[in-house]
Amino acid sequence: MNLLDSIETLKGIGPKTAETLGKAGIKTLRDFFYNLPRDYENFQAATSIAELRPGKVVVKGKIENLTSKRSRKRNLSIIEGIIRDDTGSVKVVWFNQNYRLRQFTPDKEYLFSGTYELKFGRFQLTSPSSALYTDVDLKSGLSPIYVAHGGVKSGDYRRFLNNSRDKFAEIPDLLPSVKAGTRKESLFKAHFPDSLESVGAAREYLAYEELFELILAAKLNRRENEKLKATPVKFEADKIREFVGRLPFKLTNAQRRAAWEIFQDMAKPQPMNRLLQGDVGSGKTIVAALAAFEAFVAGGQVAVLAPTAILASQHYEGIGPLLSGFGVKTALLTGATKKKPELKKMISSGEVNVVIGTHALLTDDTEFSKLSLVIIDEQHRFGVEQRQKLVLKSPSGLAPHLLAMTATPIPRSLQLTIFGDLDVSILDELPKGRQPITTKILPEIEISTQLYPEIVRTVQAGQQVYWICKAIEDSEPGEGKADITSVKSRARKLAEQFPKLKIEFLHGKMKPAEKDEVMGRFSEGKIDILVSTTVVEVGVDVPNASLMIIENAEGYGLAQLHQLRGRVGRGSVKSDCFLLTSGDTFPSRRLKEMEKSTDGFHLAEVDLKLRGPGEIYGALQHGALDLRIASLTDTKLIAKARKDAEEFLKLGDGMLKYKELMTGISKYQQLTTLN
Ligand code: ADP
Ligand code: MG
Repeated sequence: MNLLDSIETLKGIGPKTAETLGKAGIKTLRDFFYNLPRDYENFQAATSIAELRPGKVVVKGKIENLTSKRSRKRNLSIIEGIIRDDTGSVKVVWFNQNYRLRQFTPDKEYLFSGTYELKFGRFQLTSPSSALYTDVDLKSGLSPIYVAHGGVKSGDYRRFLNNSRDKFAEIPDLLPSVKAGTRKESLFKAHFPDSLESVGAAREYLAYEELFELILAAKLNRRENEKLKATPVKFEADKIREFVGRLPFKLTNAQRRAAWEIFQDMAKPQPMNRLLQGDVGSGKTIVAALAAFEAFVAGGQVAVLAPTAILASQHYEGIGPLLSGFGVKTALLTGATKKKPELKKMISSGEVNVVIGTHALLTDDTEFSKLSLVIIDEQHRFGVEQRQKLVLKSPSGLAPHLLAMTATPIPRSLQLTIFGDLDVSILDELPKGRQPITTKILPEIEISTQLYPEIVRTVQAGQQVYWICKAIEDSEPGEGKADITSVKSRARKLAEQFPKLKIEFLHGKMKPAEKDEVMGRFSEGKIDILVSTTVVEVGVDVPNASLMIIENAEGYGLAQLHQLRGRVGRGSVKSDCFLLTSGDTFPSRRLKEMEKSTDGFHLAEVDLKLRGPGEIYGALQHGALDLRIASLTDTKLIAKARKDAEEFLKLGDGMLKYKELMTGISKYQQLTTLN
């Protein structure tokens, strides 16, 4: 069997069904077999109708008198009928499931599983799931439930599978490291379960397969990266020493180590592919500046890519002066930059050495004469294509070295899988003199009693305040977000409370120039309270800010809260963070973790467990990393898959023989590559 054949080769699937399924991404036999049940209905303990008791029940019977009517009030279509067995009959009701009218063959027996309850003075079975009695494995009583796609309902899918039962035996093995036949057995058990335990075992194998593919893809990427050529950047110890000597502070040991790892990579004739990971405030920028300086000394150009205009200009103002003392010409390129054509000319002629910018750097007409290093700040905010674009800007087929930076720690399990092709440097040490931030959860109603005095204290001490809100404007009545105070109304309320303080707001819908201006005033200390959306989340550095207030804190992921909190505690003064909760619900476990821990790595692990990888890796969110089965927190299975993938790589060209595997992982390769 060739699993890449179309599903139309299966019995009972014609062009129309194939089209419907195709739209849902089920096109090949592989897709067909791997479309696993979303759940299993347990039809085991059927009760005779005469003995029904209110609650969840299973009954076996034939169906009669199916009719449909419309409820005008709620605009529902209501399907009603009678289920009968030897002992009696019961009314059955479904809502908005018109296909039920065509589903049942009279005189055939079906199993129904649903809620038996009293409605309008009469007992009925409400919205039961159903299965043809002869379709259900009687020993296990389990019937798989499939996600419905257009006209293809769960029962239809079960029927197609039933028609193809004998095809399972022909499913070839996928991985060389697994006992022959495991794959077909596992797929069969997943669709035709004989017990929940065997379903568990089947799913574990399929999860392993998935992890194996993911890890192999990352490893192949790494291998391909090693084949690329880059201009080696020679390490110039004296120059670097001079640069470091002029810094206003001593580097931390972690910064030294990271810089050293980067220099070593850059000295190689293969492109560096390194991720600099360091908690908020650990001083990544200076490490990036060191790398940029090194590239400049060797005669190359550097592109620094930041996710927002605010951050780009901040880098420009932070890194620029450090470099200019050594004759480095830096430039800022964002959407708001005036005289773009002139600047682009200076970039393409090589006159500008270091360009700092946003997405504007990625447009096709920005050309470099000798791009040798690309630095991407907060790299998880960029999509794969954008990274690829930058790499293509490198001249003469030489790839630039790549340094990605992130404050969102990658949990180890992700690092072993998706990011397995990256080299990682970690800044696990904060600069000296930092004081830990105190975090407190506070119900909104205590704003005036608890927070206002805190604000007064902060401002009197000459320090500044961030106040983060979820929305820019108040929502219209009836939009259901009544308890969210917007940036604008919060700023208004604070202005009423503190008429003497300088209060301004900031949000993503403002023009870039306006945003820069507000942010500029805030960092010069001319604003006391900055009320803002999360646009300040990433990287903004105002060491004089020491109070962070996050309103509607429940609405954020931990990684994001941690990131926001990291906007304070960046100087030597003691900082505080308040997480405001609305309503009177108990604070969630997630928020409590924020109170307990200031360790970004720990929080990322918790987030991964509670909310999945999408939360951590925004760029991967768009369904790209929808692992069907595997959990990225299953470290044991990950370890096994890693070992086997390494073994498999040793086959070299022998890998090509495994066509299906190699085709399957190209999808993951796209996803995990930095090139
Ligand atoms: P992040 O890793 O969050 O990007 P930054 O690079 O913005 O952190 O650095 C945070 C702050 O710490 C900045 O004000 C920076 O000047 C300062 N800083 C960086 N390294 C050191 C150091 N070794 N000693 C003291 N302060 C430092
Ligand atoms: Mg930063």
